[in-house]
Amino acid sequence: MPILTDELHCHLYGCLTPEDLWLLGRDRWRSMEPRLTWYSAEYEKAYGRRPTPSDYWLKDSGLELLSKDFLFTKPGPFSRFQASFNLAIALLPITPDDTIVLSHVLKGQRDSGLSYGEYRCFVPALLMPDQIAAYLATMADKTLEIAAESSPTFKPRLIFSLSRIPATGLTQYRLLKDCLRAKPDRAKIVTGIDFCGMEEGHPPSLTAPLIAQIIADNAKDRSSALALLYHVGESFTDKTLMSAARWVWQAHHMGAHRLGHALALGLDPEVYRGRQATESLRERRDHLHWLQHSRPWLKQRGYEVDSARLALELNKTDGAGLDDTWTCIYDDEFISDCRNLQQALMADLADKNAIIESCPTSNMLIGQLTPASHPLPRFTKAGLRVVIGADDPGIFATSLAAQEKILRTSFGWSEIFLQQSQELARQSRAERLVRHAAI
Ligand SMILES: [Zn+2]
Repeated sequence: MPILTDELHCHLYGCLTPEDLWLLGRDRWRSMEPRLTWYSAEYEKAYGRRPTPSDYWLKDSGLELLSKDFLFTKPGPFSRFQASFNLAIALLPITPDDTIVLSHVLKGQRDSGLSYGEYRCFVPALLMPDQIAAYLATMADKTLEIAAESSPTFKPRLIFSLSRIPATGLTQYRLLKDCLRAKPDRAKIVTGIDFCGMEEGHPPSLTAPLIAQIIADNAKDRSSALALLYHVGESFTDKTLMSAARWVWQAHHMGAHRLGHALALGLDPEVYRGRQATESLRERRDHLHWLQHSRPWLKQRGYEVDSARLALELNKTDGAGLDDTWTCIYDDEFISDCRNLQQALMADLADKNAIIESCPTSNMLIGQLTPASHPLPRFTKAGLRVVIGADDPGIFATSLAAQEKILRTSFGWSEIFLQQSQELARQSRAERLVRHAAI
């Protein structure tokens, strides 16, 4: 029997398996041909090979062909993951009243033996406000129904993934609050908000005003309070590991209740040795200002900020174009500086009981890490609280039970360690983090 039965980091569409896509697409693929043509074209750009989606349903070997094109089980860049995942997007567009994916996935998750799962549902930016309102209500009501049928063995919860773009995110949040007010029972099922999607160009400071509003609303009404789940430090191609680690700390400082992936916080900079570290001057100056401001507490955590050197660099770059590029090499000095800063940030976050959602398979595939380079051992050594998720188990051909096996075999987690992680996951359920009085 698996020990981990609380799934705290996964995406609804990411749970779709090749079999699900084949089954759900069987009666609808013909009406989706323009979308499938888009999928084929995008796939070709990423893989240099054009798939023929009609074969999935017309040939005897269709399911096998679909599985081969869809599954992402070898480490590769995000563009390839996206190209494979596009099949789910093309076949099963999000509409305001279609709950087929929701029902199918939740029942599959229930039958897989999980006791509790939080499912992140994307809110499409392209839908009109009335369509978003209908979508949120339909999803919540259907999940209430499935939860009632599944009680007490499986408890599904919905987490809506909002846009990181301030105006869009705010509109989506207001519609969600309206949806919960219109039928208070929905708050039993909708327990959190997630920020995911493109991290590059979307610093935590961009979502800070919306997050401050959510925290203020949570304080006014604990019974419908929403936990803040935040993907951060997972993808950081536009900046140095130091800045990316700072983003993780900033997301927590801003009020995020759980941090998704947070790879940059503990990834050993040694993996970048000899490579060029590049970021915009804007990012570099943000980092220097933050170091200046954080100097006292960083010192207490064992990280010394060289004030004179920092002032000199700020002075030198004052007035330069903020979109200019700042570069440095991951050499002995930069690697050690980066590692020391990470250590200080991890110590601070551990003391503040920050919770990290770690998804090993996802990180090894999209993040192209190995058990040796994955930051999980550093997280646990630093005393950070870590819960485990399968992220997109359908396309990765994995499950929470499979994550447990990997933790045992590749990360040396003992039975007791797994039990502690499961207990932490139970305590870290979205509703428990924000509705203390209501539970
Ligand atoms: Zn995720």
